[in-house]
Amino acid sequence: MRERILEADRAHVWHPYTPMDEYIRGARPLVIERARGARLWDVDGRSFLDGNASWWVAALGHNHPALVEAVRSQSERLCHVSLAGVTHEAAALLAEELVARCPGDLRRVFFVDDGSTAVEAAVKMCAQYWHQQGAPRKRRFLALEGAFHGETVGATSLGDVEVFRRPFSGLLFDCVRVPAPADEGSYEQAFEALARALEQGSDELAALVLEPLVQGASGMRFYPASFLARARALCDAHRVLLVADEVFTGYGRTGRFFACNHAGVTPDLLCVAKGFTGGVLPMGAVVAREGVFEGFFGGRHRAFLYGHSFCGNPLGAAVARAVLRVFEQERVLEGVEARAQRIRQTFERLAGVPGVVRARSLGMIGALDLAPRTGLPAPGCGPHEELDAIELTQDGGYLAQAGWRVYEEALERGAYLRPLGNVVYTTPPLNIPLDDLDELLAILEASVRAALGQ
Ligand SMILES: *Cc1c(COP(=O)(O)O)cnc(C)c1O
Repeated sequence: MRERILEADRAHVWHPYTPMDEYIRGARPLVIERARGARLWDVDGRSFLDGNASWWVAALGHNHPALVEAVRSQSERLCHVSLAGVTHEAAALLAEELVARCPGDLRRVFFVDDGSTAVEAAVKMCAQYWHQQGAPRKRRFLALEGAFHGETVGATSLGDVEVFRRPFSGLLFDCVRVPAPADEGSYEQAFEALARALEQGSDELAALVLEPLVQGASGMRFYPASFLARARALCDAHRVLLVADEVFTGYGRTGRFFACNHAGVTPDLLCVAKGFTGGVLPMGAVVAREGVFEGFFGGRHRAFLYGHSFCGNPLGAAVARAVLRVFEQERVLEGVEARAQRIRQTFERLAGVPGVVRARSLGMIGALDLAPRTGLPAPGCGPHEELDAIELTQDGGYLAQAGWRVYEEALERGAYLRPLGNVVYTTPPLNIPLDDLDELLAILEASVRAALGQ
């Protein structure tokens, strides 16, 4: 079966973020057949612990029985209907239940297809909102250095990962960019830059868009909650909306249900996806405060002119409801503390390994930076190194080989741990069984040590 699948795959599938010529020549991708909890099994029956919850979406583990059952039972009644002039139980009750989880007066839910379209819809909401407030000049966006907000043109415009932007220059809108507070030393500077940008640009700024507390795709870069609280106050002072992109951080990843909860902050718009359906179906949402929502009242021409074919899809909505039920019934957040502690201990230990520059953890995220090393094999020639030729961060991080060494070592030991360039990280399912977590962390530690020759 493996060969048959690979033959069709090599002939016809175009993989994401993959130099396909190299892939066709020599890649040996995992051929996954089934999954359960934190484990993936390939067609030969080999199992791999899913160290990144499959690109951060399988927050409750794979094939959680309650989520599978939600899809099954919903599919027998209603798979899809548009949300235009129509409503249905799954979308209506999901909106109510999601709002109950959201801070402050975030009360109105707009459904989208995934994280990128959540951000895309938020961008348009902000622009149309100000247009209708009689401030049509307010249509520029402020975003942080190192930001990642998704793949559509608007979301890419907000992002600051240079290689993702380069081929599209001219197509992307221009953002005001300020530094993210990367460490203690740069905190005040970053805050001052933000304050200056808001002060100077308040006439033309529609919104500040940020990933609260953790910039995921640019390398699991953390910043303190107080920065978020201060950003909120500044946005209020300058009449600029605050959009929190919680596509990665939401649904418990940082130890609280939303990363904004750490700062006691209510954004004007909150974007969710990924964990929103527990990785079962692609769906997301933008949750808006009442004040923003009411900016769209007053006639047909003032309505929000936006909507995807699958907006409010009943299957996705049914799973998303089941996700919230599982969080409650299985006390998922309460279980994170013990797991977070194990992750923290492992990464604290790894901080002392020569070749590890910096290690950090927050909730169900552990990450470390490997020192870029020389004298290792050239990029792009290894079996699982399809991304090596891509330089992800401005400092050349993606060309670093050590991260991919760790990946290889971990696969050998039975774990799937895709690096972000020279950043090795784990973001396991929030409810990963403790013995699986111990095994995953032991594999991660052994793989880092092996890759560094320590
Ligand atoms: C992954 C991600 C997105 C994009 O979500 P998709 O579902 O992949 O479109 C947007 N924002 C953040 C912060 C993300 O991590």
